[in-house]
Amino acid sequence: MDDAARLDRGRLAALLARERDAFAQRHPRSRAAYRQAAGSLLGNVPMTWMNKAAGGFPVYLAEARGASVTDLDGHRYADFCLGDSGAMAGHSPPPTVQAVRSRYGEAGGATAMLPTTDAAWVGAELARRFGLPLWSFTLTATDANRWALRLARLVTGRPKVLVFNWCYHGTVDEAFVTLGEHGQVSREGNVGPPVDPTLTTRVAEFNDLDGLAAELANGDVAGVLMEPALTNIGIVLPLPGYLEGVRELTRRHGTLLVNDETHTFSAGPGGCTGAWGLQPDLVTVGKSIGGGVPAAAYGLSAEVAERVASRRDADLVDTGGVGGTLAGNALSVAAMRATLAHVLTDEAFRHMTALATRFSEGVQGVLDRRRLPWSVVQLGARTEYRFTSPPPVDGRRSAAAGDGELDDYLHLYLHNRGILLTPFHNMALMCPATTQADVDLHGEVFAAAVDELLGA
Ligand code: PMP
Repeated sequence: MDDAARLDRGRLAALLARERDAFAQRHPRSRAAYRQAAGSLLGNVPMTWMNKAAGGFPVYLAEARGASVTDLDGHRYADFCLGDSGAMAGHSPPPTVQAVRSRYGEAGGATAMLPTTDAAWVGAELARRFGLPLWSFTLTATDANRWALRLARLVTGRPKVLVFNWCYHGTVDEAFVTLGEHGQVSREGNVGPPVDPTLTTRVAEFNDLDGLAAELANGDVAGVLMEPALTNIGIVLPLPGYLEGVRELTRRHGTLLVNDETHTFSAGPGGCTGAWGLQPDLVTVGKSIGGGVPAAAYGLSAEVAERVASRRDADLVDTGGVGGTLAGNALSVAAMRATLAHVLTDEAFRHMTALATRFSEGVQGVLDRRRLPWSVVQLGARTEYRFTSPPPVDGRRSAAAGDGELDDYLHLYLHNRGILLTPFHNMALMCPATTQADVDLHGEVFAAAVDELLGA
């Protein structure tokens, strides 16, 4: 019998209760701040997802620099959450700080409804990395996806989009669909959808080309919106030949392919698109590229750009549905330029990926030693463990391996010992400032958490 089969849920519950108590004891200031906010903030927090906290309340940020975060109670953490990619460049990297200071403070002017010359530099750099020639900016990855989908519908004249089971692409209305037993259904918990999303969206299982072919054969799909590897239900890597198959099928059915590289950017300087030589029609990327300053972008192939330009009836200048007043603002673009030029460089990716490999090997060593049937999957600078082995090959199977209690236990155990993981995942991300010591600290604490869980 392996160790997982011996997992004692009573022991897990007791350990979790112990870690919750320790967490509450360690964070009196954060707890007080959280309580005080009840009078003015919906759900006590600036954004309701901040209530996703294994300890019952979030710790408050005091300071962050590089790969290190300090909370309001003075505890310091090795930060592997990195704002769930928003701080993949590290917290306040000096070149971005300098660019922000210079744009916002010295030159002056964050948002003036006027272009700055930084934008074309960023467009050219994104083109070099992702291979698509023309770029436009937004402030969030959600908006990049929303506008990419609008453009896909515009140029194909088709109404629907296709996404993969258990995907997440931000708060894009069309993407809140999963596969139920009898086909696609609105995702559980979907908040006030404008229409039933099964009217707008088709769904396929990741790594299933036949399923995708059947959906595309309906001839009504404008664009497939996909992460080249799923990252929001654990990391699910594409099987050999799968992405080539997706490209072939989308071309055959006249459907545009949109790669959302917001998380998969971890695969390398040009995300999976660059690392694996993919040829999407559009790419979206957000969160990290502004070094923490809100910034995102979408890129178009020459052909899609031409088809967009030929649609004289489409209002791309005023109120046609693609746009945001602060999108492409001077501050955001200056931050992107500095971050791409000096922080998330090719060399930085080599360092981050090597550390993620060390991190993954450390976790795998613990799993092997304890014969735990969990798995760890790495995608460049990002790595994640999942409570099943071998690693799942699709969203359904990965979702089935979810275990909220185990998630909470590991997050809290690590948190109480100075390590932050992303609250929505067992995900660890490396930034240019992450050190081997940070990674090794995680390895030690993770081993201790597992040993306590299983009984040493
Ligand atoms: N795309 C992917 C793949 C994401 O994971 C997310 C957010 N986690 C988004 C888009 C949306 O990003 P944002 O919330 O910053 O708009």
